[in-house]
Amino acid sequence: MISLPTRVQRRTCRFFCILVTDLQNFLTTMAGRKPGLIALFDVDGTLTAPRKVVTPKMFEFMRRLREVVTVGVVGGSDLTKISEQLGKTVIDDYDYVFSENGLVAHKDGKLIGSQSLKSFLGEEKLKEFINFTLHYIAGLDIPIKRGTFIEFRSGMLNVSPIGRNCSQEERDEFEKYDKVHNVRSKMVSVLREKFSHLNLTFSIGGQISFDVFPNGWDKTFCLRYLEDFHEIHFFGDKTYKGGNDYEIYESERTVGHTVTSPDETAEQCTVLFLSKEA
Ligand SMILES: [Mg+2]
Repeated sequence: MISLPTRVQRRTCRFFCILVTDLQNFLTTMAGRKPGLIALFDVDGTLTAPRKVVTPKMFEFMRRLREVVTVGVVGGSDLTKISEQLGKTVIDDYDYVFSENGLVAHKDGKLIGSQSLKSFLGEEKLKEFINFTLHYIAGLDIPIKRGTFIEFRSGMLNVSPIGRNCSQEERDEFEKYDKVHNVRSKMVSVLREKFSHLNLTFSIGGQISFDVFPNGWDKTFCLRYLEDFHEIHFFGDKTYKGGNDYEIYESERTVGHTVTSPDETAEQCTVLFLSKEA
């Protein structure tokens, strides 16, 4: 007489059945993905509404897309901010996650590289730049000054002649004043000339400040981690000159796609990657 399986045996069997099914799914998924092709996405305005959290619909769409192509994200924000927008499991939900334009790089959930302004320039050069900039600001005669004239970030310096902790009203006033007196652009030309040997990019954006970072530390920075891919599709909303997707969109290494919303990102990806399998 055959004895019935014990509870432990039944459980073990169920466990292996699940394992085999998962493995089959995994292999089917990976086999279906075209080698050498990656779809790379900006975050704000491309996968989410600006500064908002990803919708469940878009989240599900990206999960489906990943079954067909390798997927990555590249955002200007740090990983904490990107995780707030795309979810806590973002480094596992995408094959590649490049935060701070790729200064911090994750692949398959693991950190594969990090770079910072501090280690790139070294303390001496950094100090020389900061000292000069603070002296310059001290000598500026503008209507008002507040505090935090230089904000030190991991991949850039943000310089503000009025100081970052001014009120919204003071911001608006400075913006108007700057339009007439070109405080920022004059300051940038002085710094650009004085520190030309450091190969820095100066980017005037927003109302009260400008960013300073090494040449090439825009979104194209992340491409160094994608040497294995010969077909890199990039999707972004700010692909015009001066926008933060411009350089990677224009790069010879990418096929650039301009989108205006997450819905359009999904539409374009459906046409490009999903319609063939239907
Ligand atoms: Mg964007």
